[in-house]
Amino acid sequence: LAQHSNPEKLASELSILDRKHLLHPSTNPKAQVQHGPKLIFSGGEGIHLHDMKGNTYIDGVSMLWNVNLGHGQKELADASYQQMTNIAYASTFYGYANEPTVRLAEKIAALAPGDLNTIFFTSGGSESNDTAFKLSRFYWQLRGYTEKRKIISLRRGYHGVTVAAQRATGIDAYRNFSGSIDPDIDNAKAHLTECELGAKDHPEYEGSIRSIIEKEGKDRIAAVIVEPIQGAGGVHIPPEGYLKAVRKLCDEFDIHLIADEVICGFGRTGKMFGVDHWEIVPDFMSIAKGITSGYAQLGGVIMKEHIRDTITEYDDMLAHGFTYSGHPTACAVGLKNIEIIERDGLVSNASLMGQELEKGLHYLEDKYHFVTNGRTKGLLAGFDLMEDPKADIPFDGSVKAATTLVENCYERGLLIRPFDFEPGMNIVAIAPPLIVNKNDVEKIIQILENALTAFSQKLKN
Ligand code: PLP
Repeated sequence: LAQHSNPEKLASELSILDRKHLLHPSTNPKAQVQHGPKLIFSGGEGIHLHDMKGNTYIDGVSMLWNVNLGHGQKELADASYQQMTNIAYASTFYGYANEPTVRLAEKIAALAPGDLNTIFFTSGGSESNDTAFKLSRFYWQLRGYTEKRKIISLRRGYHGVTVAAQRATGIDAYRNFSGSIDPDIDNAKAHLTECELGAKDHPEYEGSIRSIIEKEGKDRIAAVIVEPIQGAGGVHIPPEGYLKAVRKLCDEFDIHLIADEVICGFGRTGKMFGVDHWEIVPDFMSIAKGITSGYAQLGGVIMKEHIRDTITEYDDMLAHGFTYSGHPTACAVGLKNIEIIERDGLVSNASLMGQELEKGLHYLEDKYHFVTNGRTKGLLAGFDLMEDPKADIPFDGSVKAATTLVENCYERGLLIRPFDFEPGMNIVAIAPPLIVNKNDVEKIIQILENALTAFSQKLKN
């Protein structure tokens, strides 16, 4: 900070210190130590980010799908300042409470569908999913079903990196990292398949949620966890009727349904919550990210009333909780964040701008034969790159199609994300802040078009 007058010198100093002292998440550590950070951010406003070299980028994925109000939002900073100067932190352990935490709980209960009316606060998404698993199991224990412990999750689902959330994640690199194991969560193998819609003789029955329940036995399964729309698995929107069918299945076998709304929640998909598109009410809903637009670390698990009623019959200490459960400053930011989302109509803006984005993706599909499967739900969008989509031929792995395209976008001032963790997979995700306007979306499509043209020229050489 002392050397801001010479940003180049500061950047190289930070790079040296970073290589020596920082281990980055979801980053190649060897490359990190060799080359230092790819970008050192120095500031941002709205949908734009600046780096120390003086470059400006459009934040096309809201950093980690979380900075929904965009960067440099002063009202959120003010809410944080006011709370911090009043009482920055107060515990919610041992029955203590404070105003922003209680008010935010009330607000979330009002927004969440059905009778999802009680929240347990955490500091992020992984903690929320671990908490949902524990509360689900605890509920079944209280009802006398001590064997009802297993969790079924979906292939390509991403639920975080704490041990339980990691094992529920259906992306192998994360799921298997460091060999950590939770023996009750070994079911990350169900597909996002239409089989759940009914027939047992469906060709995809094997590996479906229904087949796992039938094999394991309903008395051993606590819950099914799904993202309403899978994010980090490559932006997969479920087949129409799928979530309703999963809800029905859970009811049929008396199993909890956990909706992981960590990305979808708070307007990202053009409705307040992802499940609202399909009008289902899960038993638990995990939230994080968009609750504060990333301005403070906050998450939570919202639960239905009958679950709360069973748990509140328990007459001893609920031995679960994080130091930052219900952090007053984070909750004050959350309250302000929701106030702004409602005041500025950002949920419907996400829906409208999502339609613009969809038009743009279709335009790119028409122009480039290797762009396919463009999909959007509000401002959660993705598309695939394939050598020959009609013949279902993927790009050879050596082309590194998604990574190359994302690099081309980066060079042109747009940050987006590639997903290529399975052979033949080349998915690109776009999820800009909910404050984008039509011009911003056009700019994103324009940069993508230039980047795709460069990519197609490279293919020819
Ligand atoms: N669930 C989903 C759907 C996510 O996308 C993520 C993070 O990307 C998580 C859970 C984990 O959240 P966190 O990184 O805050 O622990």
